[in-house]
Amino acid sequence: MSDASTTTVAPQVLLVNHFKALKLPTFAREHEKVGVECAREGIDYARYLLRLCELERIDRERRNTERRIRMAKFPVVKSLDTFDFAAILGLNKSLVLELMRCEWIEKRENVIALGPSGVGKTHMALALGLAACQKGLSVVFKTAAALVHELMEARDEKRLRLLQKQLANTKLLIIDELGYVPFTAVGAELLFEVFSRRYEHGATLVTSNLPFDEWTSVLGSERLTGALLDRLTHHVHILEMNGESYRLAASKKRQKESMKSKFTEKENTKTNN
Ligand code: ADP
Ligand code: MG
Repeated sequence: MSDASTTTVAPQVLLVNHFKALKLPTFAREHEKVGVECAREGIDYARYLLRLCELERIDRERRNTERRIRMAKFPVVKSLDTFDFAAILGLNKSLVLELMRCEWIEKRENVIALGPSGVGKTHMALALGLAACQKGLSVVFKTAAALVHELMEARDEKRLRLLQKQLANTKLLIIDELGYVPFTAVGAELLFEVFSRRYEHGATLVTSNLPFDEWTSVLGSERLTGALLDRLTHHVHILEMNGESYRLAASKKRQKESMKSKFTEKENTKTNN
C-alpha cells in the first residue's frame, strides 16, 4: 500500500503531465484554484469543467492572436481606438468601420489607401491588420521597398518560389508606401508577380501617396502598371485620405502651446517682480 503523501501528490503531478501533453496550459495552471473556488461555492463537476474549458479557450484565443500579431511583423501595433477621424476630413468613416469587420478579407477583395504623407495611411493599415489578427486571419505587413528588396534577395538565393508561396498564402498582405521609391525593371516584375498570384486568391491592402495615373513612375513600365492596376482594382475599396499631415498639425500645435506657455511664464515673472 502506498503511503498517504504519495497518493495525494501523485495525481496532481500526473494531471499536470497530462494537461501539458494535451496542450492545456490553462488547465494545468488553474485547475487547483478553480477547484477550490468551486468547492467553496458548491459548484458541481460539470460546471467546474465548464469553467476550466472556458478559461482555456479564452487564453488560447489570446495566445493565437498574439502569435498572429508577431508573425505579421507590424513595425508598431496601432488600433483604430487612437485614430482621430475628425483630423482627416472626407475620409469615409462608415467604410472604415465596415472594413474593420474584415469580411472583405474573407471575400479576397483589396483596399487601397491613397493620400499625401502623414495623413494616417500606415496607421489605418496597421489598425486593419490588427483587426484581421483578432479575427483569426493571418497577416503579413511589409513596405513596398522592403518587399521588393526581399524578392530580389530571394531570387538571387534561389528561394523565390518559397517566398512567393508564403506571400500568396497569407490571408491579408499589407504593402505600405508604394510610391516613395521607384523600382528597377526586375523589382517591378517581381512585385507584379506577387499581385498576380494574390488576385482572387487573397486580400491585399496597399497604401500609396501617388494617384493611380502616377504609378508608372515607380513601376517603370506602362504595360505592367496597367496589368497590375487591373488586378488590384477589380474588387477594391478605396480609402481617400486627404488633408493636412497629422504629424505636421501635431507639431504645429505643440509649438503653439510651448510659445503660449513661454509667454505666460514671462508675464508671470513680470508681475511677480
Ligand atoms: P502616412 O502613412 O499617411 O504617412 P502615418 O499613418 O504614418 O501617415 O501617420 C503619421 C503619424 O500620425 C503616426 O504616428 C500616426 O499614428 C499619426 N496619425 C496620422 N493620422 C492620424 C489620425 N487621424 N488620428 C490619430 N493619429 C494619426
Ligand atoms: Mg505611411
